[in-house]
Amino acid sequence: MKHRIDADLLVPGSGGPTVNGTVVHAGGRILYAGPTAELSDEDRALTPTRVVALLPGLWDCHVHFAGVRGRVSTEELMLTPEALAVARSVKDAETALRAGFTSLRDLGGYGCVLAEAVREGTFVGPRIYSANQVIGQTGGHTDVHRLPLRWVTDPCRSGGTLCIADGVDECVRAVRRQLRAGAEVIKVCTSGGVLSEVDNPVHQQYRSEELRAIVTEAARAERVVAAHCHGRAGILAAIDAGCHTVEHGTELDEECADRMVERDMMLVPTRTIYEALRHNVSALPPRWRDRFDAMAERHHRSIGLAHRRGVRLALGTDLGTSDRDGPLSWGRHGSEFAHLVEAGLSPLEAVEAATAHGPATLGPRGPRSGRLAPGYDADLLAVDTDPLAEIAVLADPHRLTHVWKSGELVHRRSTAPGDTSDRSC
Ligand SMILES: [Zn+2]
Repeated sequence: MKHRIDADLLVPGSGGPTVNGTVVHAGGRILYAGPTAELSDEDRALTPTRVVALLPGLWDCHVHFAGVRGRVSTEELMLTPEALAVARSVKDAETALRAGFTSLRDLGGYGCVLAEAVREGTFVGPRIYSANQVIGQTGGHTDVHRLPLRWVTDPCRSGGTLCIADGVDECVRAVRRQLRAGAEVIKVCTSGGVLSEVDNPVHQQYRSEELRAIVTEAARAERVVAAHCHGRAGILAAIDAGCHTVEHGTELDEECADRMVERDMMLVPTRTIYEALRHNVSALPPRWRDRFDAMAERHHRSIGLAHRRGVRLALGTDLGTSDRDGPLSWGRHGSEFAHLVEAGLSPLEAVEAATAHGPATLGPRGPRSGRLAPGYDADLLAVDTDPLAEIAVLADPHRLTHVWKSGELVHRRSTAPGDTSDRSC
């Protein structure tokens, strides 16, 4: 059955907006998106749902379904029971959907099982494309440095969200384990991390032959590799190995940007976590509390530089704690828009980073999503004002009037202004 949505403004995800536009969808797919004046006679006869501004459902391309509460640390990730983490994550997924994020790229978490639960209808959640475990080296960002290695490696090999692999053979096996679990993308750490205990974000992790083996193994299954990296050496190692996305990219410089453009790589800058940590320094390991501001400042410059030199950006936040109102809690994904605009993107480019560019972070596995165009998923979001004039509207779940996933209305504000229909699903 066909449904019609009329909007004062259509923001199509790719390209400029259309004033007085309409989307017609059926069976979970968009059939028509364009000026209302150009509707066919048959579609003109449909009773519309009226909204102010309509855009594609949003993508957060860097989240973690980790289910941790309290301080974020690799130790907490390891010690949180899996069943508890998944139960918390169900709520987190529902929160993200109500915030307008209909697609999530889980770069280390329980997303594979959650995606299955959503597909089978156990709960109504966003589409989830998960990396399953994060792959890293001994002593690297996926290690828990203060625990005996034996304790860390055992659970890491059987479950949890972190995986340790060293040498080409173990790296290949680690990729196969993620594919076996249903991973849609592979995540590897090519530099240290801020929240791990001992390693340094500036240092490269993994040798190039290990990284190339990971990329090659993933590519045989048509998966791309997302590289967590902060330092320049780690970014260049990710580029050389053929990774598809740079996650964070703190020390990205001109050379990194130009080589990323040459290889059609993308940057997922995750500015939200930098801002959250900058304003909550107690969440950082003590060694970082004095130095983090400088790192965050460097990162801010890198986003603008990458954008100016033509690197494609996708919106990601690195949100992933299950506290209901913490700085890294679910539902705050839309705060990334303002950060991207501050770094130099236009509001339209920021929207594009969260819509049309989202599926591209999955390479050949990217679905037809993130655009208002025929044949694309009818994942849609309506807000109560023009988001290109007021980008902050996308950060406020109370300003979202409707969220549709596969054409089904999954969230509706109780007083949607101008809405003349009942439910459209
Ligand atoms: Zn992350």
